[in-house]
Amino acid sequence: MITSKSEAGGAVSGAAPAIAARVLNLINGGVIVIDADRRIVLWNSWLTPRCGRAAARVIGQPLFEVFAALRGSRVEAAVLAAFAEDLSTAIPQAENRSPFPLRAAGSFDGPLIEQAVTVSPFREDDQTFCLIEIRDVSGTVEREKRLLDHAESLRARSYVDGLTGIANRRYFDVALDRELRRAQRLGGTLSLLLTDIDSFKAYNDHFGHQAGDACLSAVAQALASRLKRPADVAARYGGEEFAAILPDTDAEQARRLAESIREYVASLNLPHAPTAVRPCVTLSIGVASMEKGRLEDAKALIEAADKALYAAKRGGRDRVVVDGEA
Ligand code: GH3
Ligand code: MG
Ligand code: MG
Repeated sequence: MITSKSEAGGAVSGAAPAIAARVLNLINGGVIVIDADRRIVLWNSWLTPRCGRAAARVIGQPLFEVFAALRGSRVEAAVLAAFAEDLSTAIPQAENRSPFPLRAAGSFDGPLIEQAVTVSPFREDDQTFCLIEIRDVSGTVEREKRLLDHAESLRARSYVDGLTGIANRRYFDVALDRELRRAQRLGGTLSLLLTDIDSFKAYNDHFGHQAGDACLSAVAQALASRLKRPADVAARYGGEEFAAILPDTDAEQARRLAESIREYVASLNLPHAPTAVRPCVTLSIGVASMEKGRLEDAKALIEAADKALYAAKRGGRDRVVVDGEA
């Protein structure tokens, strides 16, 4: 094999021109070379079925007459910079989706191919030329969109508890913080309910874990259905513990709502294990309310609700206790 050094220093065989011509037409992208008069001197066969023009029809023609749509485009500006300032330019697809009027091979009325274009000047035999490479990035755009959609749905799902379908702990943390700041800004009030299913370990032991899961779901739906205001949030706080964030709700209103939730869950008459305090599934609920100068942050509010919940358990379960009344 005969080899010689190319200008760039790479090894080139004697068959290089024939190979170069073959490769040019095998490249999966458009390759156009124009001279300083903007006339097309090279045109690969990738372009032909995508714009309906073969090399024979365009060689020697001014690029901006063959593609009049390019006038005033980023491609024209890049060609200008290439010849006037010896500058290469990459035009990502995001900037100008389809500068060349190219369509999927053989399609005359399909959508335009989305393109990434690079424009690079080079010198040969004391003349300046400009290489224009066009890559079809339609698939990439579609893939990117799918990835974005997927990321969006993951983000949405990551705020939802997989078992019960209500908000999860992560959402609870974000929402409580947001609502507390809002209440402080507007001088409003806010209450928090922490609820815990009574003797749930016994439920699992008696009915099995799967039935336990179904019971958790039923309780979550029951809780969510009692919250009527759009800003109220029902969330799964932990295993068999649920929380309700109640903006613009004072302690007395929160107590009444907690009572109605407790009564409603009991009225569902979900059979419980024989060792439980009641024959049906019941809740203990702790209530805490934000007050000026007291319980102003999430941590303090949660601690107070948790203490009230603990007092409800100690007091015999199936009851509501408001912070400070234990
Ligand atoms: P108490 O009345 O004092 O609340 O008693 P308890 O048995 O409900 O309380 P404990 O915290 O001892 O037990 C909670 C049980 O909840 C234990 C755990 O197996 C169960 N649990 C937590 N998460 C899940 C879940 O996702 N599915 C099921 N089936 N059970 C769960
Ligand atoms: Mg518990
Ligand atoms: Mg429990």
